[in-house]
Amino acid sequence: GSTIGILGGGQLGRMLAMAAANLGYRCHIYAPEPSGPASEVSAAWTQGRYDDDAALAAFAARVDVVTYEFENVDAAALVRLGAAGGCTPIHPTPRALEVAQDRLNEKDFVTGLGGRTAPYRAIDSLDGLKEALAAIGTPAILKTRRMGYDGKGQARIMHPDDAGAAWEAIGGAPAILEGFVAFDREYSILLARGADGETALWDPVTNFHAAGILDLSTVPSSGIVLDQLGEASALARRIADALGYVGVMAFEFFAGAEGPVFNEMAPRVHNSGHWTIEGAITSQFENHIRAVCGLPLGSTALAANRVEMRNLIGAAANDWLSILAERSAHLHLYGKGDPRPGRKMGHVTRLFFD
Ligand code: ATP
Ligand code: MG
Ligand code: MG
Repeated sequence: GSTIGILGGGQLGRMLAMAAANLGYRCHIYAPEPSGPASEVSAAWTQGRYDDDAALAAFAARVDVVTYEFENVDAAALVRLGAAGGCTPIHPTPRALEVAQDRLNEKDFVTGLGGRTAPYRAIDSLDGLKEALAAIGTPAILKTRRMGYDGKGQARIMHPDDAGAAWEAIGGAPAILEGFVAFDREYSILLARGADGETALWDPVTNFHAAGILDLSTVPSSGIVLDQLGEASALARRIADALGYVGVMAFEFFAGAEGPVFNEMAPRVHNSGHWTIEGAITSQFENHIRAVCGLPLGSTALAANRVEMRNLIGAAANDWLSILAERSAHLHLYGKGDPRPGRKMGHVTRLFFD
């Protein structure tokens, strides 16, 4: 069988490798760590840096297709790899990574395609921040342009006097200031796009965060999310088409009074799509593998009346024995060992047929 190369060795890589195995593929992981959640379920593992052109080229030469499960791979190195190697395809296109890993590029790209975002400004200095606060107003959120996740690298600014503290807190430039969106609900759209340009969307997922980290995802969504789903899905499709995207992509939205407000996107499988493993006919992981291998996509239809996915963060994972005792619960543990606070250790998916 063919070998799929995956850049990144976390839980997303683990679940991709498990879906790939079901279809008869082997996976070869490339990551800077000596091992990780993906290593024990994969056929091969290479330890290497994401900006090491020679090591990436050697890795690409050993696999049939390269994909990634991590956003902070050096996009420039992947673009060079694509240009230099040529014979091993990289899906999704490194261009998607380039756009999505920088919050400023991402918002410019999406507004260029007609999407609505929070008001935003690029911030390169404390003086620039003060000017932008005068224009955008408070409350506002200052974010690092790159590398933020799980609410890290962000500071809320309730009053213009807090500018200095927020600037310190995120470590300075390059940054972006966003106006605070008053939203009713947060939701995400997960889209799979095949090599032939065919797209399939799962049901929109309503998401609830705790301390900046995704806590709970539920489907089906209702009310305001469904009212604005047409507009949000059209934007998601437009973005994927513009990138010539192949694979699964996630889009986070706020349900604002005027319609969907785009927050951010991820050029990969996404935490808010974990429910699809048991809750949909085809999971996000399987459809990602199908897409990058040039196979037809599977159905994204719901497999239950209602599905809930809850993250097991830190010590919450220690309750696994009581989860196993539930009839409708599917337990997933990522094999990370030490349950540090704020660390995603696993998740549980519950299906309801009432
Ligand atoms: P993820 O783990 O989803 O990648 P992240 O660290 O990239 O998260 P964001 O998604 O930008 O961060 O923000 C985290 C959460 O903070 C959002 O899900 C939302 O609840 C809140 N938030 C972020 N930006 C705004 C905004 N402009 N207005 C209102 N709330 C916001
Ligand atoms: Mg993010
Ligand atoms: Mg987010």
